[in-house]
Amino acid sequence: METLRDAASRLRRAEATSGSLVEAAFSAIEAREADLHSFLTLLPDAREAAEELDRARPEGAGPLYGIPYAAKDNLMTEGVRTTAASRILAEYVPPYSATAIERLTAQGALLLGKTNLDEFAMGSSTEHSAFGPSRNPIDPTRVPGGSSGGSAVAVAAGFTHYALGSETGGSVRQPAAFCGCVGLKPSYGRVSRYGLIAFASSLDQIGTLTRDVRDAAVVLAAIAGRDAHDQTSVQDAVPDYLGAISLGAKGLRFGVPQEYIGEGVAPAIRDEVLRAADLLEAQGLTRRDVRLPHTPYALDAYYIIAPAEASSNLARFDGMRYGPRAEGDDLLESYKSSRGEGFGAEVKRRILLGTYVLSAGYYDTYYLRAQRLRALLRQEFSAAFADVDVLLTPTTPTTAFEIGARVDDPLAMYMADALTIPANLAGLCAISVPGRPSEGLPVGLQLMAAPMREDVLLRAAAALEEVVR
Ligand code: GLN
Repeated sequence: METLRDAASRLRRAEATSGSLVEAAFSAIEAREADLHSFLTLLPDAREAAEELDRARPEGAGPLYGIPYAAKDNLMTEGVRTTAASRILAEYVPPYSATAIERLTAQGALLLGKTNLDEFAMGSSTEHSAFGPSRNPIDPTRVPGGSSGGSAVAVAAGFTHYALGSETGGSVRQPAAFCGCVGLKPSYGRVSRYGLIAFASSLDQIGTLTRDVRDAAVVLAAIAGRDAHDQTSVQDAVPDYLGAISLGAKGLRFGVPQEYIGEGVAPAIRDEVLRAADLLEAQGLTRRDVRLPHTPYALDAYYIIAPAEASSNLARFDGMRYGPRAEGDDLLESYKSSRGEGFGAEVKRRILLGTYVLSAGYYDTYYLRAQRLRALLRQEFSAAFADVDVLLTPTTPTTAFEIGARVDDPLAMYMADALTIPANLAGLCAISVPGRPSEGLPVGLQLMAAPMREDVLLRAAAALEEVVR
């Protein structure tokens, strides 16, 4: 499928217009969207916007100029309905846009639509959307992954060249792995979270879904960097990521931690990781042994910390300021019925879990211990990154599962993120790159690098993409 960079060069050479790209996107959508359901909202005025961009195209327009993209529906878009796939925000139209969206707009990028997700980004299959599931374009009987499922579908089905998603515990990398595209989760603080509807603020990060690694570098460069609206966005200058990739990956050191290829990981996926490791070595990368013994506890810590933060972040949705209000006999009853009717089952489960682990008597047993574990994981990663530049692992323990297979089994659903969650807890950057498919289904290979080392991550990822082909 065509890359973003190829589309940009067609535009540059006047072989295409923004208008023709939008038409092509709409006809691809027309052909398959009824089966796949990747969008919650399509922007009807995208055609006019494209014509305007074509008219105003400046000399030396950047690589995103005039090219349509899709954004997960938990990113605020001024004047465009933003639902987080929840009934409680079903008709919400934000008065401003997320910084990442603003930056893309400023570079001439064209928003085509808002993509489906698990409600408030809580889930791994997009089945927890209040507006119905998305389906995997490779095999529509299977889930596309989640929570950025709609964004992964849009990119993998050929609707848009790239899409924005968000991550709290794997929600960009995991759907990328299931749908066969590239999913990048930047380091915590690399991209402003301003205008991203908060799930767990110490973990949330906006990420990209693209058709190759270089496109991920292009989109990351466009959205990264300090933003006065997000005090956790870092000051560091944004490196030249494409330039970094052009240095090649020879001499980089990598490790394949045993903890990520043991029990629970499908043998075909483990074999693909080991094959990739051999190929990287043959390309001149150096393999080192690394141990990450606390890995098995990451999932437990995440399912304490993320719900704890969610229970606080979601307190604002009470029927008073946003969304539909269910009237009750008094204020408390109105809150209760608005939340009771507005939130879906998984969101309620998270709020209850989070409230429980933060309550007096349980705080020390759960929340505090989870935070200690998070600190240990960070230390363990930073020790590992003294010996290696990147870690190579599977992105997910299995390939895409069937629709319905895990939706009533929260623990099985949570397991889908066991290998992606550690990077979120430690604030690392990480990427999923397609490996060789297994029984016709995409397999994701994950690379992780130290915080703020997207340059190294992308160099290794471009090499990986090249060798596994
Ligand atoms: N699947 C994980 C969860 O449900 C991660 C979600 C995410 O990254 N937004 O919490």
